[in-house]
Amino acid sequence: MTVLEALFQVLDTRDHSLAFRYSCRSAVCGSCAMFINGRHRLACSTLVSELGSDIVIEPLPHMPVIKDLVVDLTTFFEKYEVVKPYVVSTRSAPKNEWVQSTKQREKINDSTDCIMCAACYSSCPSVWTGKKYLGPAALLQAYRFAADSRDGTLRDRLGVVGSEDGLWRCHTIFNCTEACPKSLNPARFIENLKRTSTKEALKAKIPFLR
Ligand code: SF4
Repeated sequence: MTVLEALFQVLDTRDHSLAFRYSCRSAVCGSCAMFINGRHRLACSTLVSELGSDIVIEPLPHMPVIKDLVVDLTTFFEKYEVVKPYVVSTRSAPKNEWVQSTKQREKINDSTDCIMCAACYSSCPSVWTGKKYLGPAALLQAYRFAADSRDGTLRDRLGVVGSEDGLWRCHTIFNCTEACPKSLNPARFIENLKRTSTKEALKAKIPFLR
C-alpha cells in the first residue's frame, strides 16, 4: 500500500472531508508531494511498509495551506511562468523537424525530468526568506530552456534570471537536491546557469547580465 492509497482509505472510512491532491498515481505529475515522516516525498511512490509504525503526513512546509494537505501553488507557478518554460526559436522553422544531436540533448538530460512537484521550492531557505526569489524549480527550468539547442534567446533568459531575485540569491545550500523525489539536482543546474551567465557577461564586457 502506498501513502496515497492509505489516504484514500482514510477518506473512505474515517474522514470524508480529508483534502489532498493527486492525479497520475505514477510519480509523473508531481501533484501528491507532501512532507511524510519529516521528508519531502511523493505519496504515490512511498510505501507505507517503509515508514515504520508511526506515520506523520504534513502539507509541504513553508507553503500556505488551503486545506489539510493541499497547499497554495499560485506563487510557485507564477515564478515558473516568469522563466518562459518553452522553446523560443529565433530561426525559421525547418521543413520537417528540429534535429538535436545526442551531445546537444545530453546538455538538458535530467532537467527535462522535473515534474514540478514543488518539493525543492518548499525546502529552500532562500525561498523562505526571499518572497520574490524564483526558487530552484523555476531556475532549473530556466537552465533547461537556456541550454536547449533549439532555443535562441539565451541573453534574454539570462537577463531574467540574472536579477536580484534570480540565480544569485541561491546560496548552494543543497536542500533542493536532498528534497527532490525524482533524485534531480537543481543546485547543479543553477550552478551551470551561473557559469553561463558569467561567461556571457564577460563576453559582452558588462559586470553581469540583468
Ligand atoms: S526539481 Fe525535483 S523537487 Fe523540484 S519541482 Fe522538479 S521534481 Fe520536484
